[in-house]
Amino acid sequence: MSTSNLALELIDIHKSYGDLQVLKGVTLQARKGDVISILGSSGSGKSTLLRCINLLEKPSQGEIVIGDEQLMLKPGKNGELEATSSKQLEKLRSRLGFVFQQFNLWPHMTILQNLIEAPVHVLGVPKAEAIQRARKLLAKVGLADKENAYPAHLSGGQQQRVAIARTLAMEPRVLLFDEPTSALDPELVNEVLAVMRELAEEGRTMLIVTHEMRFAREVSSQVVFLHQGQIEEIGTPEQVFDQPKSQRVKDFMASHQ
Ligand code: ADP
Ligand code: MG
Repeated sequence: MSTSNLALELIDIHKSYGDLQVLKGVTLQARKGDVISILGSSGSGKSTLLRCINLLEKPSQGEIVIGDEQLMLKPGKNGELEATSSKQLEKLRSRLGFVFQQFNLWPHMTILQNLIEAPVHVLGVPKAEAIQRARKLLAKVGLADKENAYPAHLSGGQQQRVAIARTLAMEPRVLLFDEPTSALDPELVNEVLAVMRELAEEGRTMLIVTHEMRFAREVSSQVVFLHQGQIEEIGTPEQVFDQPKSQRVKDFMASHQ
């Protein structure tokens, strides 16, 4: 596999909190356009893994390569993985878009302001251009008519679609989703999954922690099952959902029909 096809590479990622080993050596490659779903029981380390990728948590050990060799993170003096400079950290974060379970929109800003804030103030995009791009993104997530509304006036599903649009406004190379529909009422889940499905079909590189099994099966190029901080099984959706090798994965699938 040539390096240029790789969007993200995790090599032997470990993470401990004191004596608690949460990640015990996770190695994973995402090629450009891959949609990788990460499944596993609560506490298996899924969120920690995503948070390690953009250094919201510092891995205790391991390496991360984003896109190209120029963004390779190696362990520092104490073994922890960290950016070599604030500039490198900024570059890393700018390439990754993170969508959380809680949408975290700025409550005092309108939807449009939420979308242009970071492009204007972090990327230095001229305001008029940022507004134009924001409007396109709002149309894309089906919320063109909400640009002047405040987050509190939107449903949870609409807020999450805004959060996705806000993430896209930063033009990340890789999108990370941590249970983006878990906080939503059941009737609002599908509108968010529909937006994510469209992003997958556009060929975006995505890592998605989710309990939406049918969605994961349909959109993923690869499915990863994490158990106690290690990859228990990895494969195509057909392999992992229909013919899992691991009894643990079989049991999980049976209880998540
Ligand atoms: P998942 O997302 O799969 O439910 P997490 O990554 O949130 O799992 O958590 C994995 C384990 O790490 C859990 O045992 C959790 O209690 C522990 N953990 C997560 N974050 C912290 C932290 N900041 N400090 C201590 N323990 C943590
Ligand atoms: Mg989690």
